[in-house]
Amino acid sequence: MERIAARQSTRLLKALQPRRTRPHGFTITQPRSFSTTLSREADFTHAIIGGGAVGLAIARHLTQHHPNTSTLLLERHGMVGSETSSRNSEVIHAGLYYGHGTLKTDLCLSGKRQLYDLCAKHGIPHRNTKKWIIAQDEAQMSELEKVHKFAGEVGYENVPTRWLSRREIEEREPDVCARAGVLESESTGIVDSHNYMQFLEADFLDRGGMEVLHTSVRRVEKLSTGGYRIFTRTQDPLMASSFGGATPEENESEDSIDVDVLINSAGLDAINLSNSILPAHRHIKPHFAKGTYFSYASSHPKPKTLLYPAPVPGHGGLGTHLTLDMSGRIRFGPDVEWIEDPSAPDALVPSSSRLEEAIEFIATYLPSVDKSAIDLDYCGIRPKLGKTSGTAGPTFADFYIKEEKDEGFPGFINLLGIESPGLTSSLAIAEYVDSILYGSGAVQGRNEDVDEAKRRGREGQHNHEFNH
Ligand SMILES: Cc1cc2nc3c(=O)[nH]c(=O)nc-3n(C[C@H](O)[C@H](O)[C@H](O)COP(=O)(O)OP(=O)(O)OC[C@H]3O[C@@H](n4cnc5c(N)ncnc54)[C@H](O)[C@@H]3O)c2cc1C
Repeated sequence: MERIAARQSTRLLKALQPRRTRPHGFTITQPRSFSTTLSREADFTHAIIGGGAVGLAIARHLTQHHPNTSTLLLERHGMVGSETSSRNSEVIHAGLYYGHGTLKTDLCLSGKRQLYDLCAKHGIPHRNTKKWIIAQDEAQMSELEKVHKFAGEVGYENVPTRWLSRREIEEREPDVCARAGVLESESTGIVDSHNYMQFLEADFLDRGGMEVLHTSVRRVEKLSTGGYRIFTRTQDPLMASSFGGATPEENESEDSIDVDVLINSAGLDAINLSNSILPAHRHIKPHFAKGTYFSYASSHPKPKTLLYPAPVPGHGGLGTHLTLDMSGRIRFGPDVEWIEDPSAPDALVPSSSRLEEAIEFIATYLPSVDKSAIDLDYCGIRPKLGKTSGTAGPTFADFYIKEEKDEGFPGFINLLGIESPGLTSSLAIAEYVDSILYGSGAVQGRNEDVDEAKRRGREGQHNHEFNH
């Protein structure tokens, strides 16, 4: 009920004051521990742009850990989780591929632990399926050896991996072709991402958070008194039907909201939004790697484990692999196809030109696959900082998560390039953002203090090439 009330009050306020410039009903009256000495009153302490898995996790975390603050989540669609967070493999990644000293490794390891715990505690459907990484020749075997060595260095207790014997391979998955060998990742699993996001949303709203849907952030101004003014455009079909006769244009309203902390978790739009706020020397060209998935309409073969090819250094993804959803349905993919514009009409249409190549590739590790039963399914788009790799190596790019105070934007947290393993890492990303803002506790599972975590964030910036 509280969830509904929270949403209705926002919509009602919007309906009653369609051209208001500030939602005065949300003035913060409680002191907060965020370290500024502002004399003005903001409408909200925190605003998060983007209701994907990461934005939701941050919103929930801040309401949970900072009850004397207020948090607003802005989402341009009529439902949270409508973009990348509902168009992925739903794999709980082990944290094997991203190298030492990276946010991706640290946040994936911590996020994985937290996600398993949260799912178990709240009945969110998930399963520890495990995953096989498959090598067909010596070159691929050496890639697997690197992965196994890395797991040992991180600690097998954190990322358990083990070699499978030929006998075990044949007994457990008789249809799999693994000429050179198989490395098993024991902590890999799957999660129902929709259920997970529903939980995050409900918990956020139950704790008093405010969510505004159908609302797109158009621009942001830094206020001379501190904080940020966010300019939004709202299109509310619910109100259109309530007030009858309104055209879509009449039903659009522009608002502005003042906040102390601005968190850019806008996924595919995050770089554009960042470019519109930060000075020109910090502008980045966004890159997008589309991934098409392929369905399988046959009951044979029916592997029980996730099947991944050996990682290819420099590749944008992890190869066209086999994953399962919670109902046991097989899907293959995603592949990697660089695209220019994620809002183009065909951007979310699975690419039929990819089918043949995918089928040939799948047959390398699953030779008895019924090729006629493989078809186009859906696709998702990875937000990328460049034409970078999904795995450790010279073209690897880390998550970019940083408070932009060095640029003169205190309280502005930028999350860019949140590709895989963003879903797995989401709870740990939320904790990391909190540690940047409030300095409260380092990310679980990391033996470093908050200053070190912040230093990492800063260095992460320098490792990326801007203006490319
Ligand atoms: C093909 C593919 C497979 C993947 N597989 C996995 C996997 O198996 N495991 C894993 O851990 N990760 C995986 N990932 C990565 C994972 O899906 C993402 O890292 C994660 O979903 C990112 O969440 P997000 O909240 O940052 O972004 P999003 O889910 O994109 O959410 C951003 C939100 O911001 C909103 N928004 C954007 N601009 C504005 C604006 N101006 N105003 C208001 N709202 C705005 C959007 O509508 C959207 O809802 C995969 C990604 C892809 C593409």
